[in-house]
Amino acid sequence: MFMCKDVVENIMGYIDNELDLDTLKELEKHTGDCPECMAFVKTYKRMLDITGKLKNKTFVTPEIRKRLKVLLQSKLKPV
Ligand SMILES: [Zn+2]
Repeated sequence: MFMCKDVVENIMGYIDNELDLDTLKELEKHTGDCPECMAFVKTYKRMLDITGKLKNKTFVTPEIRKRLKVLLQSKLKPV
């Protein structure tokens, strides 16, 4: 079963459409039930949208991904 931390863990793959179908289903099921994760996904997408870099994935370097993940994890309640 998907937990909030799993959403954080898989958000990059979700945005990049790289998740396998089972993982994708679990993630969407969780975000459907969890307002925090729903907001998290929306915020993340909007952030990429605003910067206009969604199409240019090279923008999201491993360093940025790492920092984003730390930032986002700090916003989620501890498991
Ligand atoms: Zn959640």
